Amino acid sequence: MVRANRGTELTARSWQTEAALRMFHNNLDPEVAERPDDLVVYGGTGRAARDWPSFHAITRELTDLADDETLLVQSGRPVGVLRTHEWAPRVLIANSNLVPDWANWPEFRRLEAEGLTMYGQMTAGSWIYIGTQGILQGTYETFAAVADKRFGGTLRGTLTVTAGLGGMGGAQPLAVTMNEGVALCVEVDPARARRRVETRYLDEVADDLDDAVARVLRAKAEGRALSVGLIGNAAEVLPELLRRDVPVDVVTDQTSAHDPLAYLPKGVAVEDWADYAAGKPDEFTDRARESMAEHVGAMVGFLDRGAEVFDYGNSLRGEARLGGCERAFDFPGFVPAYVRPLFCEGRGPFRWAALSGDPADIAKTDRAILELFPGDEKLARWIRLAGERVEFQGLPARICWLGYGERHLAGLRFNEMVASGELSAPIVIGRDHLDCGSVASPYRETEAMADGSDAIADWPLLNALVNTASGATWVSLHHGGGVGIGRSIHAGQVTVADGTELAARKIERVLTNDPAMGVIRHVDAGYRRAADVAAAKDVVIPMAGA
Ligand code: NAD
Repeated sequence: MVRANRGTELTARSWQTEAALRMFHNNLDPEVAERPDDLVVYGGTGRAARDWPSFHAITRELTDLADDETLLVQSGRPVGVLRTHEWAPRVLIANSNLVPDWANWPEFRRLEAEGLTMYGQMTAGSWIYIGTQGILQGTYETFAAVADKRFGGTLRGTLTVTAGLGGMGGAQPLAVTMNEGVALCVEVDPARARRRVETRYLDEVADDLDDAVARVLRAKAEGRALSVGLIGNAAEVLPELLRRDVPVDVVTDQTSAHDPLAYLPKGVAVEDWADYAAGKPDEFTDRARESMAEHVGAMVGFLDRGAEVFDYGNSLRGEARLGGCERAFDFPGFVPAYVRPLFCEGRGPFRWAALSGDPADIAKTDRAILELFPGDEKLARWIRLAGERVEFQGLPARICWLGYGERHLAGLRFNEMVASGELSAPIVIGRDHLDCGSVASPYRETEAMADGSDAIADWPLLNALVNTASGATWVSLHHGGGVGIGRSIHAGQVTVADGTELAARKIERVLTNDPAMGVIRHVDAGYRRAADVAAAKDVVIPMAGA
């Protein structure tokens, strides 16, 4: 079993490399990873390392790495150590990248089977996954935006139907109940549903469909927040809910639809899943896509009946269209529907973890955030609710969305708290690859850009280069995360607040320049809000307005 070290004793040669080592191991902590024995962290087959020999070699190299050296990781395998300098990242990671004409699942799987690559997802192969909390805040914000748009600011008295209770999807029930609504969550794998109940993300599991419908309708009528899991296949349950005319207000989905082998077709038992997918991947893919077409057909049915329906960033619409659902794109993705205005402000999923392992350190950083941004009531509500409701998985961590001009203030404050001894050990500060200026993903983060630049992938490459040039501790550049191979390119950074003066200078630059990429990207695409933010906050844009 893998578990990150805690406390102040170093295994590696400095906190910069110790941080990478602990976060690498933390990604595979059984509390954090969905299938740690297979090195799978989350999101279908998102891995932290290519194989166990690579895992041990990365561990060894990080333990020995000096502060003027850089470890190169190619799709989960350590391939070189180079002499660099102290401002350079300690680790540079490239995961799952393929030349565009070869960037499809069959070719990827062929190379994976040959042992030449691995799927890095977003934060699995870049060692900054913090369990389901990582997605909880974004999901909470999204449902809050749905509530604002359609239901007067609260989901009270509404029913949300969704599927998938995996590493990310497991955040949905809690995000809905935090917004005072009722959620019915369909999941094929009983073990996944049980895990969400154990970690208090899901309130209860129903015995069958009749029981589930009765429970959620009672709670909806009473205006009581409740989440109910139902063991079943979304491709069967959603059409049946539609047939019964159940009054559903919001519909979305977080099954692993981005990878057709990770979506269970109807009529296939969970126990047969792995063998069938491995033995007959083409047939399995066809059946999965047909099921997705039925699943999405029901979602479109709810749309026609007036429900708020959105794709939650898993490529479900694209796969369903391949399966024959012509109206799959009748409903929007969540980014153009709710998140893009936040991206224009350089806002995104800022996150940090306490290397001490002590929850008290996170409680102190929570208070620091509240003090730093006293006027932000939404942020304060989130931090309070997260403190009460979120169970830590692995190293204690926190996430909140902060914008350009805010993130570096938080990072510098944390670094001061480490320096003064207020925190018992350094803090790592990173983010999801799903951020304002770090990703090209036409079915998700860059869907329906104002200037049609959805598929332009220069931005994530620039983002990785900018973070490397600014002093991040590790930088990653991936392909295929979130929506699958061939459909996205994205970058990430993690920077360590070890309390030193040098760390403060790096933090100030990275946490200013990284979100600046979001402002710049959206100014370039013609968003007025981004141009206003750039003008107000002095982001230099040579051809603004040209
Ligand atoms: P996961 O693989 O951990 O979980 C997927 C779950 O779906 C599993 O529990 C599986 O049993 C279930 N499932 C599969 N087929 C099903 C079916 N037919 N009916 C019901 N349940 C079924 O994946 P995850 O980490 O939870 O991610 C889910 C999806 O969300 C992925 O496609 C991921 O790329 C995407 N994602 C979205 C965001 C976002 O911000 N919106 C962020 C990260 C990931």
